[in-house]
Amino acid sequence: MKREGGQATRPQGASTRAVHAGMHPHAAGEAVTTPIAQTTTFFNDPAPAGEVLYTRYGTNPNNIVVNRKLAALEGAEAAIVVGSGMAASSLALLAHVHAGDHIVAANSLYGGTLTLLKRDLPLLDIETTFAEPRDFEAAVRPNTRALFIELPVNPTLRIPDLRPLGVLAKKLNIPLLVDATFATPINFRALEHGATVVIHSATKYLGGHSDVTAGAVVGSAGMVEMVREKMKSFGAVLDPHACWLLERGMKTLALRMQRHNETAFALARWLEMHDAVAKVHYPGLESHPDHIVARQLFSAFGGMLSLVVRGGDDAALRVVERFELIAVAPSLGGVESLVSMPRFTSHAALTSEQRQALGIDDGFIRLSIGIEDFEDLRYELQHALEAES
Ligand SMILES: *Cc1c(COP(=O)(O)O)cnc(C)c1O
Repeated sequence: MKREGGQATRPQGASTRAVHAGMHPHAAGEAVTTPIAQTTTFFNDPAPAGEVLYTRYGTNPNNIVVNRKLAALEGAEAAIVVGSGMAASSLALLAHVHAGDHIVAANSLYGGTLTLLKRDLPLLDIETTFAEPRDFEAAVRPNTRALFIELPVNPTLRIPDLRPLGVLAKKLNIPLLVDATFATPINFRALEHGATVVIHSATKYLGGHSDVTAGAVVGSAGMVEMVREKMKSFGAVLDPHACWLLERGMKTLALRMQRHNETAFALARWLEMHDAVAKVHYPGLESHPDHIVARQLFSAFGGMLSLVVRGGDDAALRVVERFELIAVAPSLGGVESLVSMPRFTSHAALTSEQRQALGIDDGFIRLSIGIEDFEDLRYELQHALEAES
């Protein structure tokens, strides 16, 4: 029996929302999980009126449930899942900028986003100026129609303060788009700090099991409808089965993040004391240049952690080659720990000097800390670093 003023009227915690938000009401005979609506279309009236209509429109029940769940986690009016993180970034931008418009974007962004801004959007006569987020105001032009940042930044985990950018965006009456993939809504709710549009590669923590490619755009209902229109035109919908996998992953998001946060923080502290380690990049550490901002904006500091091996690039490669549990793969946010070396992946096109200018010293290793036991990961790192001390 439902009580007056019951669960629906009190604010629920993130774990509860991750499990329950967006789901259909409890009713005898109904499936506890969301059935996969493996269909391209739905029976309807001659003049369609219902919310559920056609799968490419993202109006399949599997899309609707996962949209509501994500909106509830972000504290947003609405959300829309799309085919990938890059679909989320490109559709969110195309919903706000048109031919002749200008974007101001952060210097440090995901490689795919840089390619979109540098190579593809100029073909549509949309130009971008890249700047340090604190210098955005000087880069604004009369035709600037969007500000774009990412945080924490890969792989140094720098955290640009979005609050002054939110004020700037408001003053100019343009949107501030924030790719918050590394943070997740469990650690950081960008809309509460001045973001207009939140972007996620749901391929990472939201899915959480390295088994589904997806993206999401979160914000006001009106904005999400603008993104939906672009999604319909460009055809970047997320299919029902992928939505179902994402929904299943998101139910444990809060639980997984708690473990990612705890283990990464403990390993960061441990690594900082290690003789073979020159530097640890982790926003929870007092030594991190944005630690104060991180404490103000984040409820926890995430599962990403980077370290610099004292012996440089060759030593770092030997360390990575000694890993047994931690696999080399160019992604992050899954239950399994992964390692990558930016000089071979995201920052391969740069010289050592150019990387250093971005804070990526020789010997740099990026870790995505999974949900394995702390002791097993510590043992692995200790064993791998031992010979370099
Ligand atoms: C992976 C990633 C993307 C792109 O996501 P896909 O799902 O691979 O398209 C965008 N931004 C960040 C920060 C990412 O880590």
